[in-house]
Amino acid sequence: MSQSDLLELVRFIFDNTYFTYQGRYYRQTLGAPMGEGSLATVLEHFNSYNTHLQFTAEEEVDNSIPFLDIRVIRMGEVLRTDWYNKPSSSGRYLHYRSCHPQNMKLNLVTQMKTRVLRLTHPTFHSQCIFKLKKLFVMNGYPIKLLNKLLCNTSSSPPVEVTMSLNTDAMIDRADIVYATIPYIPVLSNKISLIFKDYKHIKIVKTMKHPLFKLVFSRLKDKEKEEYESGVVYSIPCGSCERTYIGQTSRWIKERITSHKSDARRNLRTCALAIHANNNDHVIDYSNTKILFKEPHYHKRLFLEMLSIAVTDNTMNTKQDTNNLNNIYSYLIELSKNFASTNS
Ligand SMILES: [Zn+2]
Repeated sequence: MSQSDLLELVRFIFDNTYFTYQGRYYRQTLGAPMGEGSLATVLEHFNSYNTHLQFTAEEEVDNSIPFLDIRVIRMGEVLRTDWYNKPSSSGRYLHYRSCHPQNMKLNLVTQMKTRVLRLTHPTFHSQCIFKLKKLFVMNGYPIKLLNKLLCNTSSSPPVEVTMSLNTDAMIDRADIVYATIPYIPVLSNKISLIFKDYKHIKIVKTMKHPLFKLVFSRLKDKEKEEYESGVVYSIPCGSCERTYIGQTSRWIKERITSHKSDARRNLRTCALAIHANNNDHVIDYSNTKILFKEPHYHKRLFLEMLSIAVTDNTMNTKQDTNNLNNIYSYLIELSKNFASTNS
């Protein structure tokens, strides 16, 4: 079967799925065909293509099925939702002793509560609150505080996101200036207290300040330059003003090694080797620079030619830029003339 035939078949199935409900026929407008029995076959088929690309399917167990972080429970004719955590969930949240602003921690508790209560059916609310309390105790939150935040108001009032008509609202929002400062316990609070009376200045305490980047290391090392690949590079001569410009798909480190070997063997196909041998010059490999990073071969060739064309005093031969379209050569000449007449 050809690919287009298969696609047409799939499209046909998705466009022509019908089901009956209370004696009436309906055409399904969204999703895959429903029904029992076919799931296992479909799954087996999908997973037969590649051992590294495996799908799983969640099936209803005891009249319930988890979906994201809720569990949908079928109770006769109605569906009810309960809060659900994956078995792999670590239960780790912002720890109470973590160096974060206090209001951030309080907000976390109240927001979790609002979220959980909104998502779940009232019959599950008391056990959800119990679960939340247990979770935050595990994360170091004092029980007294949790009782106050979680248990005080029995039904959670929905948080209305509307502008209240207080003095803050009288100030045009466009006039408000936000200033970000790194969160430092005690100090940041004192600073924001100073600005409390200035309604048009808002101090935002952040954990994402550039300062923190200095303190916390990146998880992944930056690639060492000599192990860069797919680059346009320049190598200067140590004895005169000329530079060699080249490109490679290999590690820059490897390319330098082969340049050294070419120069030693006096290879006549390498412009760098020719320059070093004809003039008895010493190449300054330690000052190799990466001009462009470009994984695409043809784009890289173009950038190499362009670099040769715009650089004065290269070791490269004239034919290295032969493939550069005349229009580019013309534009480069024009810009060089323009620069020299304006300096
Ligand atoms: Zn030289």
